[in-house]
Amino acid sequence: MTATILVVEDELAIQELIALNLKKAGYLVLCADSAEQARKMSNNVLPDLILLDWMLPDLSGLEFARKLRGEERTKNIPIIMLTARTQEHDKISGLDAGADDYVTKPFSPRELLARIKAVLRRRIPEISDDILEVGGLRLDPVTYRVHAETAGKLIELSVGPTEFRLLHFLMAHKERVHTRTQLLNRVWGDHVFIEDRTVDVHIRRLRKLLEQVGKEHLVQTVRGAGYRFSVEKQEESAEL
Ligand code: CA
Repeated sequence: MTATILVVEDELAIQELIALNLKKAGYLVLCADSAEQARKMSNNVLPDLILLDWMLPDLSGLEFARKLRGEERTKNIPIIMLTARTQEHDKISGLDAGADDYVTKPFSPRELLARIKAVLRRRIPEISDDILEVGGLRLDPVTYRVHAETAGKLIELSVGPTEFRLLHFLMAHKERVHTRTQLLNRVWGDHVFIEDRTVDVHIRRLRKLLEQVGKEHLVQTVRGAGYRFSVEKQEESAEL
């Protein structure tokens, strides 16, 4: 999965330089030169990460970060602040406003890319191309293959695209409970108007696939809460 990064920077030369480097690194890039434009853009497409300049013509980056954190739709988007300031109290106020990290200008493209990668890996592990191995399942996001180890043999599962994304998300966030709405937003994308029940349908399909290799117990229903991928045994399984 390719991450979409929104660059909010009013100095066009810097904006272009960043955009160029991000595109070269394989990211999808959106650019805004004010907080207002950035707000409108993220109403259309929710970015996976925001690079936010401290000094903007309308709102300061700091105020904008607080706004993003205060709204349900945008509160979980990772933010990296770009700042010319190096004073300690500025860094602290940036982190207080909800930024995940900050990069001080002038910075090298390589440093910026490393910071972005680290924040994405920490905050949105399902975006990374890392191979995941949990509970005898092995999922490779690059080759789109899922293998299961059962009775000492490695068996490849034939997983459809939606089930693959769902399994990838669940494995990347193992042991955590996700509501249907969270799964819809994170796996199907927000602004997708489908019913919560769709999640149940795909969970059922996923379990059926895992049943072939005796691993359906990994996808668990947590009564009244949602679903979870867990290697811990569940006492009773219940319908949501
Ligand atoms: Ca600026």
